[in-house]
Amino acid sequence: MDLSYIINELGEDRDKYFNAVSPPIMQASNFKLNTVDDLSKAFADEFDSEQGYLYSRGHNPTVDILRKKLAALDGAEDCLVFNNGAAATTAAVMANVKAGDHVVCVAHPYTWTKKLFDVLLSKFNVSCTYIKGTELQDWKDATKEQTVLFYLESPNSWTYELQPLKEIAQFAKQKNIITVIDNTYCTPLYQNVIELGIDIAMQTCTKYISGHSDTLGGVLCGSKTMMRKIFESEYLTLGNGIQPFSAWLLLRGLRTLPMRLQRVNESTKKIVEFLDGHPGVEKIIFPFHPSFPQFELAKQQMKSAMGLVTIVLKNPHRDAIVKFTESLKAFLIAVSWGGHESLIIPRCAGIKKERYDPANEIHRQIRLYIGLEDADYLIKDLDDALKLIE
Ligand SMILES: *Cc1c(COP(=O)(O)O)cnc(C)c1O
Repeated sequence: MDLSYIINELGEDRDKYFNAVSPPIMQASNFKLNTVDDLSKAFADEFDSEQGYLYSRGHNPTVDILRKKLAALDGAEDCLVFNNGAAATTAAVMANVKAGDHVVCVAHPYTWTKKLFDVLLSKFNVSCTYIKGTELQDWKDATKEQTVLFYLESPNSWTYELQPLKEIAQFAKQKNIITVIDNTYCTPLYQNVIELGIDIAMQTCTKYISGHSDTLGGVLCGSKTMMRKIFESEYLTLGNGIQPFSAWLLLRGLRTLPMRLQRVNESTKKIVEFLDGHPGVEKIIFPFHPSFPQFELAKQQMKSAMGLVTIVLKNPHRDAIVKFTESLKAFLIAVSWGGHESLIIPRCAGIKKERYDPANEIHRQIRLYIGLEDADYLIKDLDDALKLIE
């Protein structure tokens, strides 16, 4: 399906809403049915919204427009849209495990993904093994008889480790193991994981799909059978479906997604080039930098890199990192990423001052997100801040 068609036309039923170009926000909790027979049908199969809407904890027409587009972007049969990314991850995993089961997960998944396994699922006797996961063999070695799910995140959002997705998906299929990936870093535009054989593609819409730092959202894409399974259990019981207004904001974000990603991609490359030659910078961690250990794999399975770059300054002192971070004017000190604004987080913010170790490279890492500002404007800001800590 053509990307322009997906973004501008798919799912839009304009003659149903006065030919308005922008779809309405269907702010309704419930929907009228015409006959008792129709009500019976809706009760019997709430997942199939083609036959009419029932209640917005299930499906909603504004959300459905988004749903069609997001599924098509991933090349998947269907998708479910959640109130945020963490909710989507939780639903995908919980729908596919039961007490006694075992999960294998990448070593450094997103913070709240780790909490899901460590805090929530451990209560229900679901165990998890964390592995480096950069080689197929790591996954084979960690697989037990009780293993039912592989949780991947490629690249992750701090140090960008990749997993060979196609090989892992093939192995998992042979073993009847469900594969779930957090594909937020790339979006389906830069890495098509369904095509590589992954069962469930999760993406945090809060990041690039929204693009404006004004709403949260999460999505799961996969087969119709899998989406129905998740809908009929976690989606309806946990009640974490996205609200119509948030869905509408995501639809608006989608209109400009390809051009925003292109801009982020080009600016990030320029900024990496600048940082690469800078005497104040000791190391750059970026999947499309030749020094990246999995540069070849990155080129194989991703179209290009996106806006996150991690750097280590030459000056190892915490004071220098703080000064650099706080001196920047265009880069805001904030979590999240994917919006219009550039961001910075130093790793040391999460480490007690007295435990900061200048000899530990991880403590010195600083993550930048490159937003939509002019690249030269950002470079000047970085250059000025770097000069202060020479
Ligand atoms: C932000 C983020 C999430 C969680 O998304 P929310 O919408 O904040 O719940 C999950 N995975 C990654 C990689 C993220 O960056």
